Amino acid sequence: MYHLLKGLHEYLTRKDEFSVIIIGLDGAGKTTLLEKIKTMYNDTPGLPPDKIAPTVGQNIGKIALPSAVLQFWDLGGQRGIRTIWPKYYGDCHAVVYVVDAVDHERLSEGWEVFDAVLSAPQILGVPLLLLANKQDRSGSLSVAEIRNNYEVWYQHKIESARRRQGSELDNEQRRERIASLDVMGLSALEGTGVRAIVDWVFIRVQNSKRR
Ligand code: GDP
Repeated sequence: MYHLLKGLHEYLTRKDEFSVIIIGLDGAGKTTLLEKIKTMYNDTPGLPPDKIAPTVGQNIGKIALPSAVLQFWDLGGQRGIRTIWPKYYGDCHAVVYVVDAVDHERLSEGWEVFDAVLSAPQILGVPLLLLANKQDRSGSLSVAEIRNNYEVWYQHKIESARRRQGSELDNEQRRERIASLDVMGLSALEGTGVRAIVDWVFIRVQNSKRR
């Protein structure tokens, strides 16, 4: 009887587990975000910002919500390390791409990388969230400005490809993904916007086709 009740209890309280990858250029604030999520949702706090070193490989953080467990994977963003990202695409339930909204000089580099993420076939049906980080800093681009900056960059890329090759590189699937793309602002350092991001992820992974 005990085992039966224990089994029933475990069945009723079982939580689905989802993997979320956090990617973006080095310095965007991925690890700061992961550690902030750990601090806000777990009893054991994450690393304070001054103890965070550049990520070589991955950092992992798990949080338990009332009906699901989210496992976050912060993957290194330096050029040589980015090649490992696709290895995680096959098994992830959501992708969070972090942009440093203050570093105007690296925006194009960031869009080049983001564009490859956006069109990676393994994650075409997976929820994708674009984050404009460092909203606490003056001079940071707002959510609307970040979205616009990417769209302008993308149009420019399409037009120059068309001029060079005389062909249409744009495609319907990709345009739809851009049109439906959610962009959110945050300060990973101060924690503003972080709960809304976790809520977004929580809702999207439950409704995701990849379960
Ligand atoms: P990663 O390479 O993407 O993991 O970036 P880090 O998390 O290591 O952050 C890079 C630098 O940006 C560090 O000095 C962080 O303290 C700083 N940083 C990260 N997020 C924020 C933020 O929201 N606001 C400010 N002002 N600085 C941030």
